[in-house]
Amino acid sequence: MIKFLNLKKINERYRSEIDLRIKKVLDSGWYILGNECKVFEENFAKYIGAKHCIGCANGLDALNLIIRAYGFSQGDEIIVPANTYIASILAISQNGCTPVLVEPDIETYNINPDLIEEKITDKTKAIMVVHLYGQAVQMQKITEIAKRHNLKIIEDSAQAHGSVLNGVKCGVLGDASGFSFYPGKNLGALGDGGCVTTNDDELAKKIRAIANYGSDYKYHHIYKGTNSRLDEIQAAILDVKLKYLDDDNNRRREISKYFRENIKNSNIILPKTHHEMSHVWHIFAVRVCNRDDFQKYLEERGIQTNIHYPTPPHKQGAYVEWQNAKYPITEKIHDEIISIPMSPVLDDIEVEKIVEVINGYKL
Ligand SMILES: *Cc1c(COP(=O)(O)O)cnc(C)c1O
Repeated sequence: MIKFLNLKKINERYRSEIDLRIKKVLDSGWYILGNECKVFEENFAKYIGAKHCIGCANGLDALNLIIRAYGFSQGDEIIVPANTYIASILAISQNGCTPVLVEPDIETYNINPDLIEEKITDKTKAIMVVHLYGQAVQMQKITEIAKRHNLKIIEDSAQAHGSVLNGVKCGVLGDASGFSFYPGKNLGALGDGGCVTTNDDELAKKIRAIANYGSDYKYHHIYKGTNSRLDEIQAAILDVKLKYLDDDNNRRREISKYFRENIKNSNIILPKTHHEMSHVWHIFAVRVCNRDDFQKYLEERGIQTNIHYPTPPHKQGAYVEWQNAKYPITEKIHDEIISIPMSPVLDDIEVEKIVEVINGYKL
């Protein structure tokens, strides 16, 4: 059986290093907001090319903290792609803001820049771009629109650790960016974790305070803050794994290239990328019109798959207000998309088998 994602195998490669770092934290007697978190924040900021990195509890909180620190609230609108993972949209709702859904481009699965401007009103405060599946959003048009309308750009980089657009990493392509270190992400902890990256000094200071009970220094509270912190053990583990992120991403790129060059089946629509570096292949999603049948076919031949995502946000019970809304491109993607195994620990034999089995699929 080729697993969709073998997390044990991914982390096993670093076991001795991780064991040592966990032991160090245990021995230190300091478990929250200590040196490990500080060191990881510095290293991740350097990796991304950002002035600031602020650790927090998870990716949803990272996005939530950004919106909260900007002071966006009830009545404010934030533009977001309709086909994203629901967390992007929840972060907007949690602040009382209204998510304004925009259809994606069917080629890239990222927000269609040509459909943004018609959705802007005098209430619009920000555009949230989501680098879906690990592919950096082409930012040029969006940056121009944001400038023209005085909007902030918030990046959801939860799937795009290490994607590079024209030499600039996801995480500094907008005003502020949220990352997730959920175990299955390209840079994953052994539990929950997240961070915000930004070049904005004021925003960074405010987010750091809000995430720590609104406190700028001990027992001094200037905001009605929350508790969202990256703990020392997770920070230490992430600091070990960060060193290998580029190698892992390059292995994903290599596998993706092999898939794209060797899967030859007219029933399967393969993903595309503008540039090999602008995608980190968090997910390798293909489209097929008879998805359930295809999934069963692969399962029967020992290949596990997953669907990102089976139901679009506007069809979820959580958002009944959108139940009659129509987003045909989003719906088409959700009906046809299926993710095949993709991870740095797939070996060549597994990769070849996946290609062979997919090439043998008949409708
Ligand atoms: C994983 C993910 C999140 C949320 O991250 P958590 O750490 O699970 O809260 C947000 N947006 C996208 C696109 C994601 O894939």
